[in-house]
Amino acid sequence: MRKRIVAGNWKMNKTYEEALSLVSEIDNMVKDEVNGDVTVIVAPPFPFLQSVGKLTQGNDKLYLAAQNVSEHESGAYTGEVSASMLKSVGTEYVIIGHSERRMYHHEDAQTLYKKLKATIAQGLKPIFCCGEPLEERDADRHFDYVGKQLHDSLSYLSNEEFDQVIVAYEPIWAIGTGRTASSQQAQEMHAYIREQLSRMFDAEAAFNCSILYGGSCNPGNAKELFAQEDVDGGLIGGASLKSRDFADIIKSF
Ligand code: PEP
Repeated sequence: MRKRIVAGNWKMNKTYEEALSLVSEIDNMVKDEVNGDVTVIVAPPFPFLQSVGKLTQGNDKLYLAAQNVSEHESGAYTGEVSASMLKSVGTEYVIIGHSERRMYHHEDAQTLYKKLKATIAQGLKPIFCCGEPLEERDADRHFDYVGKQLHDSLSYLSNEEFDQVIVAYEPIWAIGTGRTASSQQAQEMHAYIREQLSRMFDAEAAFNCSILYGGSCNPGNAKELFAQEDVDGGLIGGASLKSRDFADIIKSF
């Protein structure tokens, strides 16, 4: 069975105190208001992982993610954080290949593949991001662009490794812009992604893979997006920083 997932990417926002109050509010709202079968994930900045994670522990719907991970196991990599370190503080998911990391930190397909391997080797679950820039969509090359991103980083994984992967489709033109993909645009790309995955891995694994939509998702548009057959939830940026909005998105299933 495909998991329904809503993950909040806090990016480089919040102080320590603010992070603790945000996760406490989310924890309470999820406990009080969310009845269905949905996995909720919060991805705070590295320094807050352990403390935020402690506050999620009593909630069987709420899990912890990191926003990035090193491709290396350990050693002289100043400023980097390994998958085993993330695991040791209770992290269960890792966002890999977010467009901001591809853009500002020049993370290429091969690096992302290594990050996927390092993450899965520690028993953590990657949330692998893909998505096209506006010029690729305008030139009607968005399917090929996303297909190549999937192929170049995921196709070298084994079926067993792929079983751990969640995919997030995040068109770059929709991230933080207030411009959302229409539910039809999201569905057709998600169906295409699933089809590509079924060519790389076994059909059942592709069918069971959760594919999340990300890009200006909010309480007003989440219901229609989540109603699409191949949209299994969302990766939420801005709206995940407000507990009320985030909870309302979670309740949109
Ligand atoms: C994101 O960056 O993952 C994202 C989806 O951001 P936003 O919701 O703010 O567009």
